[in-house]
Amino acid sequence: METLGYYNGKYGELSEMTVPMLDRVCYFGDGVYDATHARNHKIYCLDEHVDRFFNSAGLLRMTVPHTKEELKELLREMVSKVDADEQFVYWQLTRGTAPRNHAFPEAPANLWIMLRPAPTQDMRVPVRLITLEDTRFLHCNIKTLNLLPNVMAAQRAEEAGCDEAVLHRGESVTECAHSNVHILKDGVFRTHPTDHYILPGITRMRLIQLCHRLNIPVDEAPFTLAELRAADEILVTSASTFCRAACELDGQPVGGKDPALLKRIQDALDEDFHRETDL
Ligand code: PLP
Repeated sequence: METLGYYNGKYGELSEMTVPMLDRVCYFGDGVYDATHARNHKIYCLDEHVDRFFNSAGLLRMTVPHTKEELKELLREMVSKVDADEQFVYWQLTRGTAPRNHAFPEAPANLWIMLRPAPTQDMRVPVRLITLEDTRFLHCNIKTLNLLPNVMAAQRAEEAGCDEAVLHRGESVTECAHSNVHILKDGVFRTHPTDHYILPGITRMRLIQLCHRLNIPVDEAPFTLAELRAADEILVTSASTFCRAACELDGQPVGGKDPALLKRIQDALDEDFHRETDL
């Protein structure tokens, strides 16, 4: 199959799947999701993404209708049925199907899975960024479906001919519209701590583990817009883009001052990805 969808046990091509109008996602966006990348029909960082998914669901008091092992098996089985060697693997949980009423319904949660072909991105291609005030709520650690400020920011970036928007609360940089952002400065990997202002990115976590292995110092503390602009390198990370460096921020050239350290980090991530997804 070219694409594959799943909704509470029903399967089909994504373009043919339908969902009930009273699924609470339709009127409240009431749900959580997670996503990663598969290569050779093997899912990268599956344990970590499933753990975060259960954590997001728990923080919103939603019950996943499967154990972690059952969900992983279902995802692996579905990924094996899609023709493409490289896939975007996305799943979400919505808080049941019921007439519109803010308080929770007496209904089981709905599980959705969507698979589609997606080529692995080339980390050597740099990204161009804009900066925007972070106007999101204070639960950014939960991977909820309520992404309107992120959607608006991503659109602003696209209209500026850029790839991502770096969000900041006042002077303090948080993350991007759909990725985390980090800097390299004087040999140190600096990244916002995993508080309620950012999503705890799985790629971020892997990079920190790889930095520890490579003896690269890591500083998990907020950094400012001025520090971002003066960084030796700016790194943008996510499950779909992996780890790309920025060459431009708000129309000004940035980074490019520590290509050797950047390459060590990117090579380590590339190796890690291949180790988990090679045949
Ligand atoms: N921050 C936000 C807001 C995101 O949407 C994402 C990915 O979707 C990330 C960070 C990166 O997380 P991960 O590395 O787990 O893909």
